[in-house]
Amino acid sequence: MFFLGVVSLLFGQRACPVDKAFLRVKQSAVAFQPRQSQTDTLWVPVVFHLIAQDSSGWLSDLRIASQMRALNRDFAQAKIQFYLPRYGPQGEPTCGVTRTLSPYANHDWTSEENTLKNLIQWPPDSFVNIWVVNRMVLNTIGYARALRDTEGVAGVVLVASVVGDRDGAQVPYDWGRTAVHEMGHVFSLYHPFEGGCVGMTPQTCATEGDEICDTPPQARPHYGCPSPVPNTCSETPTDRPDPLDNLMGYVDDSCMEVFTPQQAARMRDFLIQAGPALISEENHVRRGRTLAPAEACAAVAALPSVSQLPLHWSVEGSVLRIHSPDPCTISLYDALGRQILRTEGVEVSVAHLPEGAYVGRIERQGIVQFFRFWWACGW
Ligand SMILES: [Zn+2]
Repeated sequence: MFFLGVVSLLFGQRACPVDKAFLRVKQSAVAFQPRQSQTDTLWVPVVFHLIAQDSSGWLSDLRIASQMRALNRDFAQAKIQFYLPRYGPQGEPTCGVTRTLSPYANHDWTSEENTLKNLIQWPPDSFVNIWVVNRMVLNTIGYARALRDTEGVAGVVLVASVVGDRDGAQVPYDWGRTAVHEMGHVFSLYHPFEGGCVGMTPQTCATEGDEICDTPPQARPHYGCPSPVPNTCSETPTDRPDPLDNLMGYVDDSCMEVFTPQQAARMRDFLIQAGPALISEENHVRRGRTLAPAEACAAVAALPSVSQLPLHWSVEGSVLRIHSPDPCTISLYDALGRQILRTEGVEVSVAHLPEGAYVGRIERQGIVQFFRFWWACGW
């Protein structure tokens, strides 16, 4: 397991209390044998599970979209790209975002990792799960398990405040790079300071420390964005400064931007070997990757009405329209039966709703009728 934390969100010190020893699982469970990488872009479906104590704690779909842009911006260096699936585990319509209410949104990862992940998870062979919680103990802002980790479900856990790319996320972790860093761990990368000043020669750099030769060894993590770039190890034959701008370090989001070529190759090799089903074309077809948004997001798919209704209704984009000569009282209820909207009129927009099943109630001149619909894509 990999951890990324902070002493204080306000003052921005990342910290990662778990070292390489924790990765014995991955190393024994997955025969990591670097080989020639495919050159095509590797596509990876991800699902965000938003866990909150009440509905005000769920991030918006726009924040998730913003985070997706950050992931794809930084992983373009490795020719790895992410997408939100259009179809979930059972082939049901989805936006790739789920919302769950639970007290475990206040996350104690030291003892409740499995509890959190058992609230909701999609098959890790087919999706990379990203859980987003409201808070984590010890000021941790993210941690990850690599693909095929046998001690826990692979994926990323993030605190909500670091999700998004300058779109509401909290400075200095506001460029969406905590998710990028953690995803690097999912794909087998270590911190550049793993082990400190080890792997100091061309003969040892591939097997010691972070096992990457084009990230010079680094004695310890750096914070903030120090200048000039520090040089904490003296490797031979060529001494180079620390890889300060590396995405697997601890500096502020605005200070990091690089996956080196060898890090990119390692991630791709690992992904090909540890996640063959995940990146398979068959999976992409099942997840609807190639569907154009307009086609895939068919905003509202109507389910059969539950009764013969005196009033008709129809769907136009994200608008439900009641075919009534004069205003009705329109109420919407979520799958738990909670009223989430009540309005007077003949139409209502559902563009802001999380995806899922809903029940509508129309009342006009004492006549009440119900209908059901599925909201399948929010943006
Ligand atoms: Zn880390």
